Amino acid sequence: MEVSLEPRQKLQNPAFVWSECLKLIKPNVSPMTFNTWFTPIKPLEINDATIKIQLPNAYFWEWIDQRYNALLNNSIKEILGNDAAIEYIIMDDWKEEPSVIELHHRASLNVPAPKQEIKPVVEAKIDYETNLNQKYTFDNFIKGSGNELAVAAGMAIGNNPGGTSFNPFFVYGGVGLGKTHLVQAIGNIIYANDQSKRVIYLSADRFSQLFVDAIQSNSAAEFQRFYRSMDVLILDDIQFLIGREKTQDLFFHTFNSLHQAGKQIILTSDKPPKDLKGMDSRLISRFHWGLTADVQPPDYETRLAILNKKAEEFGLNATPDIYEYIATHVTSNIRELEGCLLRLLANVSLSAREIDLELAKKSVQEISTSRKITISVDLITKIVCEEMSIDENKVRDKTRKQEIVIARQLAMYLAKELTRISLKNVGLYFGGRDHSTVIHACTSIQNLIDTDANFAEIAKNIKNKIELACT
Ligand code: ADP
Ligand code: MG
Repeated sequence: MEVSLEPRQKLQNPAFVWSECLKLIKPNVSPMTFNTWFTPIKPLEINDATIKIQLPNAYFWEWIDQRYNALLNNSIKEILGNDAAIEYIIMDDWKEEPSVIELHHRASLNVPAPKQEIKPVVEAKIDYETNLNQKYTFDNFIKGSGNELAVAAGMAIGNNPGGTSFNPFFVYGGVGLGKTHLVQAIGNIIYANDQSKRVIYLSADRFSQLFVDAIQSNSAAEFQRFYRSMDVLILDDIQFLIGREKTQDLFFHTFNSLHQAGKQIILTSDKPPKDLKGMDSRLISRFHWGLTADVQPPDYETRLAILNKKAEEFGLNATPDIYEYIATHVTSNIRELEGCLLRLLANVSLSAREIDLELAKKSVQEISTSRKITISVDLITKIVCEEMSIDENKVRDKTRKQEIVIARQLAMYLAKELTRISLKNVGLYFGGRDHSTVIHACTSIQNLIDTDANFAEIAKNIKNKIELACT
């Protein structure tokens, strides 16, 4: 076939291979299906004949896996040969970070690598990831009464980083209200205006993890220099620094150094600075130096505007009463509004009928069920880790340390016991593992429970705690 005549190099270029693959897929599906389910997929990398592709969330994965697995596999085999395989990477629904632990590769970025400035004080850190996702922009961010101040300040900073009095810029509010979107939009605009600006985005959780790694590999000083070399530091979900005194201390010094040099600091949190119990008071006072702005849940009009905008993005065509129904019933946050539209899309494609109120109701219903499931797996993981004194972040990692493996397996086992979440989704939750890993975990734990009375007791206690917490 024609493609196989291309130079070998091209077949190692994920973007090329994926675009060839899309060409094969396109004629086999409707334009709406193509735009909805295939366009958002991002090729990340190719290793041998395995292409890694990234899907926005678990719905996508389930949907694609159930309906288009064969189509996808056949297409990729046409291009890469019979050994070809696809590895799915999910942008985790439950956490902001991609669920694959190390997305080291340049290819995983949406933004090209910033040019390295040669600064004598910065040791050769030739390359770094901004971690910015280009899909988050001001253009597709709906302004409403709940976020007016935050957006206005964000735009001002975007156009003049470090040059406004909004430094640091501290955004706080509940989940799914657009904090991450907003701060990434600021980063994106700064980078778009001036590509020599060293912008970096990461969650405080990740920051802390990387710091621990740096200490372990004796590179704490380099770590420190690296973050001090930034023009714009965006640290998301700063509440994750609570209980991590060492990271707080390091961040305190980083903050001072950046602030003194007129560099922009942007922070988000789930609560206002004063409520961050367990955060170093020196940091809390610094959080107030610039501007603190909150984001509130969207009002009805804003919810409608968001639904219309997202529907347009998704290529979804529904009558106003459908959006009104959803806006009336999904009130908590924007992530759920979005999730509901995705459900609706899935249901429409499944039932092969026009969108009607019945389908909208079904989708709203499904969203509230999936919310319950999500809460409980989070809770299971949290309690297992607390009881076994294990760092919660490690459980989703690839680490094979014995005690972490057991905690992870126990959490999987309990997720299967206590929730209705599918094995596939349990696997996804724990760092994109497949369902056979989950089955293996469940049998191992059952074995342990049957043979080790001590462990059985621990497991029983944990299970009780979870059930108590759920009631
Ligand atoms: P948070 O970080 O506060 O938990 P996110 O920024 O992750 O929330 O937002 C959740 C989802 O909702 C994202 O997909 C984001 O793009 C979308 N979103 C949030 N606020 C808005 C908004 N005002 N306009 C458009 N989309 C939004
Ligand atoms: Mg966020």
